[in-house]
Amino acid sequence: MKLQFFEKIWFEVLVIRCFIKLALALCVFSFMGCNEEEQILKLQAEGAIIQAKIDSLTQAVEKAQQIPGNWTVENDTVRAGDGLFQVLSRMHINEKERGKLVLGMQDSVELSKMRVGQVFFAALDSNGSVQRFRYATSPATIHMMSKNDTGYVYSRIEKPVTHRMSVFEGALTEGSTLNGTLFRVGIPGRMVGIVSGVLQCKVAFPLARAGDKFRILLEETFYQDSIWISGKVVYAEFDGKIVGHHEAFRYEDPDPKSSFNAHYTESGEALVYDGLRYPLDRLHVTSPFGTRVHPITGQRKTHYGIDYGNPTGTPIYAVAEGVVTVSGYDEFSGNKVAIRHRDNSESWYMHMSVRGVSVGAKVAPRQVIGRVGSTGRSTGPHLHFGFKNEKGVWINPSSKTMIATPKLEGERLGRLKQQVAETRKQIELTLAAPAVKANDSTDVMVRMRNID
Ligand SMILES: [Zn+2]
Repeated sequence: MKLQFFEKIWFEVLVIRCFIKLALALCVFSFMGCNEEEQILKLQAEGAIIQAKIDSLTQAVEKAQQIPGNWTVENDTVRAGDGLFQVLSRMHINEKERGKLVLGMQDSVELSKMRVGQVFFAALDSNGSVQRFRYATSPATIHMMSKNDTGYVYSRIEKPVTHRMSVFEGALTEGSTLNGTLFRVGIPGRMVGIVSGVLQCKVAFPLARAGDKFRILLEETFYQDSIWISGKVVYAEFDGKIVGHHEAFRYEDPDPKSSFNAHYTESGEALVYDGLRYPLDRLHVTSPFGTRVHPITGQRKTHYGIDYGNPTGTPIYAVAEGVVTVSGYDEFSGNKVAIRHRDNSESWYMHMSVRGVSVGAKVAPRQVIGRVGSTGRSTGPHLHFGFKNEKGVWINPSSKTMIATPKLEGERLGRLKQQVAETRKQIELTLAAPAVKANDSTDVMVRMRNID
């Protein structure tokens, strides 16, 4: 009984703490580009809507401060520049448990996507040992580590959410920007950058003209009908006098982390077709590029690549055509392969269980060059993917445009066709819904409906 109360309050404290912070920043037009996932990560929740929730929950929080029993609850909020190490240290979690928690959690949660204002909770017993550890990546998704005889067990709690479809239509006008126009037709500020990014991947906007028309279908997810969780562009259409008619459809593999999840034309062509190919089919970043504090040891170090967690044996692909310049082993990188590309840039792949190519071999984009492993200095199976520019300098691989494929094929193409048909149906149904106010800060009326 006590525990149930604890669980409930814990969650509510979290909602409040997270959103007080997030509510401070509502960014509108600041992000663009073709990588929708990256942009979504940068989104902040809308402040005004959340304030009401905060008020109604404040009382509950005060009660929660007086949790009875011999467990104590520590919490800490992610600050700018924090890694999990800093958070865990401030919570006085000992090094051994810290290591177990990080390793256990990073398999399931992308800790590199921690955001300022998010809250971690730890329930410690009277010996100071962590019994529960809790992290919510959104108000509706809670990740929990619970102690048992051998270590920690991960579990995930998903709160019910609602999905909402909205159609936005309009035309460009003389003297107004694309973003301004998207905002004016009622597209929420949090989604404007994403919509604009999708359109700009397909349409050369210097050639867009006043009178050119667009239609957008958005799907957004809400917790308790009002707290925004996420959004995606399901469909974007642009009909321009010069640029012509274009449609983009959001394609989804069954795995939400599939590198194939992106926008394509109806016939399966990627909106960007000349990017590097992802080195893996599944993208689970366990450590991004850049300066970081090691989550377990606390050492500060620059990480010259991206770590992608994946099971041992997962195929690793060449990101572009090239010639193998390194295929070898050392105690830090383990089994490693480097490929030099036509422009003299180089891609590096480390910690492999198996190397599949030798020095001098010519490789094609997406050719399998090895398998994921944990050789060298590594705490678990992952690919360390590095990229040197033509001058030999390590750069952040995520600054390069990366795609899974220039064209969907086979089973995926079949799935896209089904999803296209479903999307067209959703557009019809949404257009037939009654017009409602697009959002709290506008009088623009749009067609909107909840699905499920
Ligand atoms: Zn690495």
